[in-house]
Amino acid sequence: MRDVIIIGSGPAGWTAAIYAARANLQPMVIASQVEVGGELMNTTEVENFPGFPEAIMGPDLMTKMQQQAERFGAEVVYDDAAELDLDGDVKRVTLGSGKVEEARTVIFATGSAYRKLDIPREDELSGHGISWCATCDGFFFREKAIAVVGGGDSAMEEATFLTKFASKVYLIHRRDEFRASKIMQKRAFDNDKIEVIWNSEVAELQGASGLTGVVLRDTVTGETRELALDGLFIAIGNDPRTHLVHGKLDLTAEGTIAVEGRSSRTSVPGVFAAGDVVDPTYRQAVTAAASGTVAALDAEHYLAALDDVAPAPVEAVTTASL
Ligand code: NAP
Repeated sequence: MRDVIIIGSGPAGWTAAIYAARANLQPMVIASQVEVGGELMNTTEVENFPGFPEAIMGPDLMTKMQQQAERFGAEVVYDDAAELDLDGDVKRVTLGSGKVEEARTVIFATGSAYRKLDIPREDELSGHGISWCATCDGFFFREKAIAVVGGGDSAMEEATFLTKFASKVYLIHRRDEFRASKIMQKRAFDNDKIEVIWNSEVAELQGASGLTGVVLRDTVTGETRELALDGLFIAIGNDPRTHLVHGKLDLTAEGTIAVEGRSSRTSVPGVFAAGDVVDPTYRQAVTAAASGTVAALDAEHYLAALDDVAPAPVEAVTTASL
């Protein structure tokens, strides 16, 4: 039986695969049917991943990680994990295709999913003026007026990137200061096309078949006003992707998978978790990658301990007794 199945193909999943493959554990990576590479596939330049002084594009970084994992023998499956059976010594992962894969350990590295504003018509207008990915959809907004919602690094990055296409980019934030890093804030403040709208939230989406504007609510006074827009990019953070393990693994109060101390050990023996799905705080490509390393090493130690206590194979007993 296979030793390790890794679910997820972001920095945590690929790094776990590199380490597990180099430890000769021949891991299988369930890389997703449509979202191979995770969040970094939607990013432009990654300037803070050590080893790339000139920056590297997010998708290029993920391709290199995958190539590195495959070079050492990781097997990649382009499908989603649909169901998990984690109890017992044999872990079973049912794929979207219905095929069931088995292994002695599972490393769960499913990352996080875009957060939604949770307002009426958000889903309906998704792809019709509303987007969560500037690099994917920015091109459609040439010379248009658009807005980005959020005050973190993602919002700064998206707004700055979108000025390549749009004639005007509003940056809508619910407070009067950003939480983004200073360098990212400065880039946004220095850009003439970006106008910050402080203390505001999107209360309503307007437009019949496509977005034509929003109603903004002032978070201090409660006053509302209309803002005409061709596009709205939502960049308000992510939530850990844990739906597959609800009721199967313990979660933290923040909704991430609970792990023991600095390890990747979850509440179920033989199941390890790494990356954004365990991290409510740092959520960087490099910390996710490091977390993938921890998971691969923990899985390796777990397997070694299992092999230590397993009954010796018949041949070994015979040889030893000679
Ligand atoms: P984040 O840091 O959690 O910021 C989310 C932002 O959205 C916050 O400003 C928050 O407002 C706002 N927000 C949350 N829920 C909202 C809602 N319902 N309505 C309106 N606004 C809402 O998320 P992020 O920007 O995606 O960044 C996540 C992590 O990735 C961070 O650690 C970040 O440093 C990292 N990252 C790094 C880079 C880079 O270094 N190149 C690029 C992107 C992301 P409040 O501030 O009021 O809470």
